[in-house]
Amino acid sequence: MKKLSQWPVLCAIVVLAVACGRPQAFTAAEQCIIDRSAEVMYVTVIGADSTVLRTPSADLTPAELASDRLKTLMDKMYSTVTSPQQDGVGIAAPQVGIDKRVIWVQRFDKPGEPFECYLNPHLDSLWGEMTHGPEGCLSVPPMRGLVPRYSAVKVSYIHPETLEPRTETVEGYTAIIFQHECDHLDGTLYIDRADTVFLHASWKETRAQYDYSRPAWWPLKENQTN
Ligand SMILES: [Zn+2]
Repeated sequence: MKKLSQWPVLCAIVVLAVACGRPQAFTAAEQCIIDRSAEVMYVTVIGADSTVLRTPSADLTPAELASDRLKTLMDKMYSTVTSPQQDGVGIAAPQVGIDKRVIWVQRFDKPGEPFECYLNPHLDSLWGEMTHGPEGCLSVPPMRGLVPRYSAVKVSYIHPETLEPRTETVEGYTAIIFQHECDHLDGTLYIDRADTVFLHASWKETRAQYDYSRPAWWPLKENQTN
């Protein structure tokens, strides 16, 4: 009888151990951001949000890749980068407070110039002529800079629909967007690479009509300043 009476306790311990050992899909803070954000998410900015912007992002775990929450994050990141107040050509997850390897890139090299999402992207190689082109960043208002970039990249990633690994070669302006967004995933901003950084004259006029303030419920605390 005594041994039998211990079974419920033993079973509870085993269940707890299995649950704790399962890979978690996103941290509590990340879940809060994904679930509570509006369709157009708060975009992190240098200074106030430098910790999340400067922290290298982790690859999505198998549990995260299979989660509905990832789909929600992808949808909201798309709504954010294509919103009139941001009007970007690419966005990386640290820019919405999530240090995970997820990016959207506008494919100017494809018909219709669609936005496409890439999971766990990594630049395997960069080559070609270096060009110095103007860049801005949703997370570095109100600046622009002249940044040297390679003209071609080879990117490996997980396809968001099939979840299959893929590799692709990209050239031209779209290759520059891939470099800018993958830099974000390594905690690097274009101002780290820029030859010169200058004020973007029309920034205030184009953005004055929108609210860019951080939500009151925002779970991340700031402790870094650049
Ligand atoms: Zn950026």
